[in-house]
Amino acid sequence: MGYRTLDQISLAGRRVFMRADFNVPLDKQDGRTITSDTRIRKALPTVETILGRGASLVLASHLGRPKGQRLESMSLRPVAERLGELLGTEVALAPDCIGPEVETLADSLEPGRALLLENLRFHAQEQANDAGFSAGLARLGDAFVNDAFGTAHRAHASTVGVPAVMPDRAAGLLMQRELEYFSMATSNPRRPYVAIIGGAKISGKIDVIRNLLSLADRVLIGGAMTYTFLKASGARVGDSLVEEDRLGLASELLEIGEGRLAFPEDHVIADSFSADANVRTVESDVPDGWMGLDIGPRTIESYRRILGDARMIVWNGPMGVFEIEAFAAGTLAIARCIESVSDKAVTIVGGGDSERAIRAAGVGAAISHISTGGGASLEFLSGAVLPGVAALA
Ligand code: AMP
Repeated sequence: MGYRTLDQISLAGRRVFMRADFNVPLDKQDGRTITSDTRIRKALPTVETILGRGASLVLASHLGRPKGQRLESMSLRPVAERLGELLGTEVALAPDCIGPEVETLADSLEPGRALLLENLRFHAQEQANDAGFSAGLARLGDAFVNDAFGTAHRAHASTVGVPAVMPDRAAGLLMQRELEYFSMATSNPRRPYVAIIGGAKISGKIDVIRNLLSLADRVLIGGAMTYTFLKASGARVGDSLVEEDRLGLASELLEIGEGRLAFPEDHVIADSFSADANVRTVESDVPDGWMGLDIGPRTIESYRRILGDARMIVWNGPMGVFEIEAFAAGTLAIARCIESVSDKAVTIVGGGDSERAIRAAGVGAAISHISTGGGASLEFLSGAVLPGVAALA
């Protein structure tokens, strides 16, 4: 794919600058407790490989959206502590991510030791991909590793600017795994190949649906975007969420996708967007005063049949308003369907909501690959080249 892997660069005695994705959720009350350390754990194989091969390691990440300001509430200190616990060795936190003091700290790192830089986005130059800022970061290492798939679709200093000036560069193990799975889904799928696309809006997923229609054997639609398609095809959708300015595009996709696009055959509808709404299931049009909030049992059955024959499945986006129990059944059923075919199919799940649904259904372990990058995986599935990946060539 035009990038090197960790095995293809020499590590012993080097000082590796690694872009990681440590953008972890913090407790809203105390602002310091990490509520899920999944992203830190997912970087551990790469961190341990680099340290184990006799390199020292300078780690860089963003956290939250400080917008170029130094905000203590978005310090990476909790990450340094947690990473240290998981590695069983102290990980120092640098006072900043560039500057003479940080360079001195990096210079004094012993092989096998790691230093975590402070939040890259305390500097606006990070997202602006500023050349001087990139050069400042690049001074901290002599080889570059990118393991942050979740930000690979962004052309920032730490994802694009730094590798541009560091000839020795490679994908980390997590990045490599993500790229291998999504490459399979876009260039070498097993068949039958079924994609399931849900969520609120088609606007962010038009290119994905268009590209998947040229790759997959079936594309199953769920979530609110159903109603933009149904309205475009002339059905009555009541008060369901519709993107009026996307009706033309939806009609175009309906034409391109004839025979491959599948839509819900029945709908769980409600008279308001709330947990205590009146709820019923309809098989035809959604009446005025009602809105479609989940796929119905007939749809679950028919999607289950299609998924049952699949040898490759890609899923992004919930089938309904799964945050509310009354409208969660469709999304949870799809999660279970995917699990039940995971022994014979390659199954890939992307996007935070789908991942949460997989966990809520308790089926995560069987899935072939749960992506760490929602936005990046959608970009990849739309056929785009991710700037952070191109920069590793
Ligand atoms: P997205 O970010 O586009 O993947 O959308 C995810 C959101 O879509 C979730 O918060 C769901 O609650 C919401 N959603 C899914 N189905 C519907 C629906 N039928 N009506 C309104 N919102 C929905």
